[in-house]
Amino acid sequence: MLVLHTGGTIGMARGTDGYRPMPGFAAVLRRHLDGVPGLPAFELVELAQPIDSANLQPGHWTTIAAELVARWDDYCGFVVLHGTDTMAWTASALSFMLRGADRPVILTGAQIPLVEPRSDALANLQAALTLAAGLPAGEVGVFFGRRLLRGNRSTKVSSTALDAFDSPNAAALAATGIDIELHAARLLPVTARDFSLPDFEPAAVAVLTLHPGLPARRVEAMLDDPVLRGLVLCSYGAGNIPDAEPGLLEALARAVARGVVVVNRTQCAHGPVVQGAYATGAALARIGVVSAADMTLEAAFAKLHVLLATHADPATVRARFATALCGEMS
Ligand code: ASP
Repeated sequence: MLVLHTGGTIGMARGTDGYRPMPGFAAVLRRHLDGVPGLPAFELVELAQPIDSANLQPGHWTTIAAELVARWDDYCGFVVLHGTDTMAWTASALSFMLRGADRPVILTGAQIPLVEPRSDALANLQAALTLAAGLPAGEVGVFFGRRLLRGNRSTKVSSTALDAFDSPNAAALAATGIDIELHAARLLPVTARDFSLPDFEPAAVAVLTLHPGLPARRVEAMLDDPVLRGLVLCSYGAGNIPDAEPGLLEALARAVARGVVVVNRTQCAHGPVVQGAYATGAALARIGVVSAADMTLEAAFAKLHVLLATHADPATVRARFATALCGEMS
């Protein structure tokens, strides 16, 4: 088993201005885990510069995936220690970059640093290691609190609770109590390896959240960015936008015509976008906006980034986006 430390609260210590990644964390973690009975054997590596995951950039996804792929055949499973703030974004991206993963990759971290009292670090890491050693098939998962979630279905739902993650539109893959309950029937079937480690243009994808009073001119200003190639539109309810705001639909239509791939993701945590349910949503389908169905925001964003980094043609990206690639949509 390989543990890759990328940063996050789990490996932080308190400085004068709050928590920061601590130097020498790998040795501290080793000391805590040495002699713990029943743990699978593991090796530990760290990124050259562990980060607070609030500083994550799409390029870090390639760095993390490359660390795993370089060692892929040497280990039977991987645990990635990651900050909770963007763990669901990285788990989503890794799922699209490591399609057909024939080894489990499980991200975990902590709400309280390992070196602080009442830390959740060891419980999360021990469970993640045990699950990574025991999973029969490859999944990019998030283990946190008491549940293993599919990574591209997970989202951070609490800034304070130790059960910080949820998977609003897909059941958990496993739950830990006195025993570990693994739902093997929910795991993805193993397919052929199809890995890609793209060079990301960090600003290629934007997120636009609709809100009452949003003027079309603000949307136009955002869409005018020449590096923009994809937009996740966070719409209302079943996928609706205000059709009473003059110019909004036209601005989106112009962007689609220019080759920007616009996808429609609901602001609701539960349930899918149904673009034909209301006239205000049907108009989006007419101009070529693609439904994100019941994907999380993190999965829709990461999927669009990976597809745009690997395909030049917007029509191909739209078609691939509408297809379930690795369990990210129902
Ligand atoms: N800011 C931290 C991070 O995401 C929060 C955490 O790990 O819980 O790196």
